[in-house]
Amino acid sequence: MSETTEARARKSIVDACRAMNAAGINQGTSGNVSIRHGGRMLISPSATPYDAMTPETVASIDLAGEMTGDWDGPSRPSTEWRFHWLLLKHRPEVGAVVHAHPTYCTALAMLRQPIPACHYMIAIFGGMDVRCAGYATFGTPELADLAVEALEDRTACLLANHGMVALGGDVDQALWRAVELEALARQYHAAKAVGDPAILSVEEIDATFGMLAGYGRQADAGPR
Ligand SMILES: [Zn+2]
Repeated sequence: MSETTEARARKSIVDACRAMNAAGINQGTSGNVSIRHGGRMLISPSATPYDAMTPETVASIDLAGEMTGDWDGPSRPSTEWRFHWLLLKHRPEVGAVVHAHPTYCTALAMLRQPIPACHYMIAIFGGMDVRCAGYATFGTPELADLAVEALEDRTACLLANHGMVALGGDVDQALWRAVELEALARQYHAAKAVGDPAILSVEEIDATFGMLAGYGRQADAGPR
């Protein structure tokens, strides 16, 4: 990996954090973004306002070996570095992780309810639902384990009484899924407020998987 590609990856983390604000899915500095770069994880720094964040403040952590938390950089990594690290380590197809506390995802996470197949877009998250991980204190190894479990065969999950996590092959796709998940949570919430949403069948969702493959990736020419 050249300096140039690392510089680009670092800048894309800063850009993604600012894009979370622009998309309205971030709350304060609670959102964070990581990218796999070579054998390392690049991750947004802890408690840094996005306007003050620069590519140089992005922290770098080795993905090999044990979860030690040793990092390179002038700023501490996000307090949620553990679940970013564990997801990148155990999911080789994942190139980026986005975490935030958007209102509707977090409201459903407070109810500790999964999002069911109430819209065909559920398919972009890998299955018939988006699960809600059990509760553990933020920043802990226990929360990292719960997130990995809830994300099995999925590309997004809710975190009980906390927020959401979205995965992508690259940072654009992870961010796209994060924004789509908040939209879906908002729609589900609105439908539940007036009745019982109809839930799509396995066959109906299966029919959408192929059509949605590759959505949200910068490298693909398809719709976003
Ligand atoms: Zn959080």
